[in-house]
Amino acid sequence: MLESHHHGPDDGREQTDLAAARIRSVGVVGAGTMGRGVSQMFAEAGIDVVCVDVSEQALRAARAEIDRNLRLAPLTRGFRPDHAAVAARIEFTSDYQALSQVGYVVENVTENWTVKAQVYPLLDAICGEECVLGVNTSAIPITRVAGLTGRADRVVGTHIMNPAPMMPTVEVIRGHLTSAESVTLTSSLFARTGRRSVVVNDMPGFVTNRVMMLTVNEAAFLIQDGVATPSDVDRLFRECFNHKMGPLATADLIGLDTVLFSLEVLYEDFKDPKYRPCPYLRRLVDAGLHGRKTGAGFFDYETI
Ligand code: NAD
Repeated sequence: MLESHHHGPDDGREQTDLAAARIRSVGVVGAGTMGRGVSQMFAEAGIDVVCVDVSEQALRAARAEIDRNLRLAPLTRGFRPDHAAVAARIEFTSDYQALSQVGYVVENVTENWTVKAQVYPLLDAICGEECVLGVNTSAIPITRVAGLTGRADRVVGTHIMNPAPMMPTVEVIRGHLTSAESVTLTSSLFARTGRRSVVVNDMPGFVTNRVMMLTVNEAAFLIQDGVATPSDVDRLFRECFNHKMGPLATADLIGLDTVLFSLEVLYEDFKDPKYRPCPYLRRLVDAGLHGRKTGAGFFDYETI
């Protein structure tokens, strides 16, 4: 590619950094497990947040959970955020129109194509021309989501890990039509929250979940086959492999419904039977045992 004589090779990067520095407010769509943490993460970085969900109950629960997390931060994270200032930066609303002025959006609605397909045309119509849409999905290809909009160059994968306020790195996914500027803007924006980005190309499940969902699914088959108890499966990973968490506790943290949705996406997309969801996992989901968020999954959790 020819380079212009008038600009240094870094001019584009600097301009994008400046554009990221100018973003004053971010839209967070979906106030579930991820949307709550993502809202808190941006607010802690001094960025205003408009958090949108269709469920008033989810919005109320999000506010309460963020409050609780901020209160417990000295214990759980060893630092004391300015609780009142952080909380005051987040506006909770069920009105999508509130997104018309934000500079960037991170979408975290349910991992289900029908739901995502309803949301993107709305975002495309309401958000400003320049606004980049970050897709927080566990497995759905970014290029497919971008096709729901008229701004495929400004749609990028932002796979943020759970719990968002504590995780230092984001998997950023470059869709087939995502522009270099959108990728740079995204990593610069995350840098403002103290996060690093690892940029990867678009394929179902990206890097993390193509591997992680297979592991979790196989661990569920171990339970179905009666090979070991959930606590022994996880102990082996923690104590023999030095993993911080075993695969089943990780699945409970992610949400078993989200795990199942992700496996279905991988199975449908690759048409490879190795991704077929474990029937026992499906049974837990059918029983409403979705992991931590419902109080029980592979393990029981005290309701809080
Ligand atoms: P969740 O089920 O906890 O929350 C989803 C939220 O979306 C709910 O509050 C629901 O009311 C809301 N919603 C549904 N339809 C909506 C609409 N039309 N407009 C606005 N809000 C709507 O799910 P989650 O675990 O937070 O996952 C959200 C996304 O993040 C999924 O795509 C998931 O794959 C991805 N993700 C999840 C994790 C994880 O560990 N849970 C990690 C990374 C990425």
